[in-house]
Amino acid sequence: MLDAGIELEPERRQLVAQLAAQDPPQWSPTAIARVKEYMNAGKSGIRLKYAYGSDFPYREADRYLPREGTGVGLVPSLARGGFSNVWGAAVLPYVEDEMADWPVPYDSLTPHYEAVLAVMGLAATKDDLAERFPLFSTDYHPAPTSRQAESLLRDLNAHRDTLRSRGFLFGYSRLALRPRNEGRGCAACGLCMYGCPYGLIYSTGATLAALQRDPMFRYEGGVLVERFVETADGVEIRARSMVTGEPLVRTGSRVYLAAGVLSSTKLVLASLEAYDQPVTLMDSQYFLLPLLRYRGERGVSRESLHTLSQVFIELFDREVSEHSVHLQVYTYNDLYPEAFQAVLGPAFPAFRPALNSFLARFLVIQGYLHSDLSTHVSIRLRPPRDGAPATLALTVEKNPATRPALRRVARKLLRNRSLLRAVPLSPMLRPGDAGRGFHAGGTLPMRARPGPFQTDVWGRPHGLRRVHVVDSSVFPSINASTITLTVMANAHRIAAEEVPA
Ligand SMILES: Cc1cc2nc3c(=O)[nH]c(=O)nc-3n(C[C@H](O)[C@H](O)[C@H](O)COP(=O)(O)OP(=O)(O)OC[C@H]3O[C@@H](n4cnc5c(N)ncnc54)[C@H](O)[C@@H]3O)c2cc1C
Repeated sequence: MLDAGIELEPERRQLVAQLAAQDPPQWSPTAIARVKEYMNAGKSGIRLKYAYGSDFPYREADRYLPREGTGVGLVPSLARGGFSNVWGAAVLPYVEDEMADWPVPYDSLTPHYEAVLAVMGLAATKDDLAERFPLFSTDYHPAPTSRQAESLLRDLNAHRDTLRSRGFLFGYSRLALRPRNEGRGCAACGLCMYGCPYGLIYSTGATLAALQRDPMFRYEGGVLVERFVETADGVEIRARSMVTGEPLVRTGSRVYLAAGVLSSTKLVLASLEAYDQPVTLMDSQYFLLPLLRYRGERGVSRESLHTLSQVFIELFDREVSEHSVHLQVYTYNDLYPEAFQAVLGPAFPAFRPALNSFLARFLVIQGYLHSDLSTHVSIRLRPPRDGAPATLALTVEKNPATRPALRRVARKLLRNRSLLRAVPLSPMLRPGDAGRGFHAGGTLPMRARPGPFQTDVWGRPHGLRRVHVVDSSVFPSINASTITLTVMANAHRIAAEEVPA
């Protein structure tokens, strides 16, 4: 495995190891403050989610993968473990009847959903969500649920039949969360947004460490792959050391490319010398929508809880969207007061006394739309010129359907407020920039009969036999439900299936 592989700084690694060796009451306030460093919440949420106070998941990406263009929230990662170092661990499979444009039958993904969930670990509860989103696991465990989430689910369940008849499907969130060692579960320490001190939120770094113990596996970090060339009996990979800048060549019989959509797309375009040829990035439009409950829960800021998503609400209503809409509900976390301070500015002190009762009722929805309703981004690779490196030119192509769809989602929640016992704060609805939700892909979509800039069902770009693109770049469309579980299942499928030469 060749990987840029930028890592968490050694002193922060040591800090995490120190926290992991203790129980939360033993943690020093200084250590916790270090883990929370540099994470700020503003009017539009968190600018960048750091890991243990470090920006290493984003570091060097601008230098090694230069991009031009505005209005794009998606960035690449050159970190060991990529964005799994900071992700929200929300894992739902795709909806079977929303994959009609995939040349791969849903059933062929089933064993691979099971295989990757066995690696990741799953916090889940069997509830109504399983009707449209199979669990694909028998080895799941519940995550600790906050009082705000329990109370929301109680209210939703009190009106379950009516809500279901109106297209609401809801339940406990599904999270790629491992049980803590020795049978002890999540410590509910509330640090999820900053990085789990016990490493319970699945990160591919853990799988990589396990693979590195296998003598048949070799990992080479600090390597920036720049292009590949297919030869008569294999593939030559041209790369560069990120330490010395020296060119490197490695060979293999096949290449499996999973560098994240921006980097993989650049590598394929560079290898095909397809400069200035447009390909289209599809996104699942991300938005934030606060929700105010009719009744609050006491003491939310003192509660032991996890701060990943607690509840999932899926909308299946064709009057809102042809495809389902995915809503992840977040209950209290300690970034909310900071966000309010940013929103209220100088007026904040006047609101301070009322803040706790407001936060007791306050929830945040992180929502996603299907790619058909979302912004697209046109991507071209500009050739290297006058000593400047090849650059990805990104042009946002707004989708006129996005705003009306977001308004329909907010209206749907508003109309059902008495059943949800909550009102959406629609004026505070914030759509993210293109790709800001990091559920994006589709630049080299899989097709039964691929043409230029498309891939076959094993992720091989048109004209290539030994290079398999196995990340979200090959998705024919992006479902609203979370992306990574399906990225991993599809990659596992491609690696496992017999591929004709
Ligand atoms: C804040 C945040 C929250 C998220 N929450 C969720 C969530 O709750 N649920 C969900 O489903 N998804 C979520 N995502 C998206 C999820 O993290 C991505 O789908 C996933 O990480 C993609 O994995 P990947 O391996 O394809 O790419 P990446 O995670 O981007 O990893 C890229 C890998 O390729 C390497 N690499 C890149 N370019 C090169 C190169 N040229 N040479 C050598 N190595 C290279 C990097 O070092 C890295 O190892 C979230 C993302 C973010 C940023």
